[in-house]
Amino acid sequence: MGTKYVFKCFKCKYQIDISLGVCFLFPMLYKEIVEKAKHGDFGGRIKEFLNTFPEGKIDAETALYICQGCGNMEVLPELSMYLPKGEAPKRFPFKGESYVTHRDLERDYALFEVYPHKCSKCQRIYTLIPREKILSSKLIKCPQCKVALELIEFERGD
Ligand SMILES: [Zn+2]
Ligand SMILES: [Zn+2]
Repeated sequence: MGTKYVFKCFKCKYQIDISLGVCFLFPMLYKEIVEKAKHGDFGGRIKEFLNTFPEGKIDAETALYICQGCGNMEVLPELSMYLPKGEAPKRFPFKGESYVTHRDLERDYALFEVYPHKCSKCQRIYTLIPREKILSSKLIKCPQCKVALELIEFERGD
């Protein structure tokens, strides 16, 4: 499961591995991210959200972020906050799992607030590149040389 892209710059040695989607470690990862968020590791806003809404969920799947200021790119957990649409989905108790995937959130939850990730280099708010646009986005460029990157590896699991 999951999709992996590796982009490389043909001018310099810059390379970025973009692994998206859910792998077998995801349930553990989800729990870890929620714990960190509740402790305030991702700021006061998301901590407040999780403590105010026990039914609230966060999107722990990774996404590709690009800084339109300096060109820096990072793969980060999205951390957007969601609340159940109407009643909480009934299947969760039967599933016996406490995590949700991006797909679950899109189907059964309403977006409460997008988490504003900041560039680790210049502090500007990052732009999220939607999954389906990764192969076509003109924003994906080498942060140093500003030239288009080459896709050197692509794997898609189901
Ligand atoms: Zn380069
Ligand atoms: Zn930046």
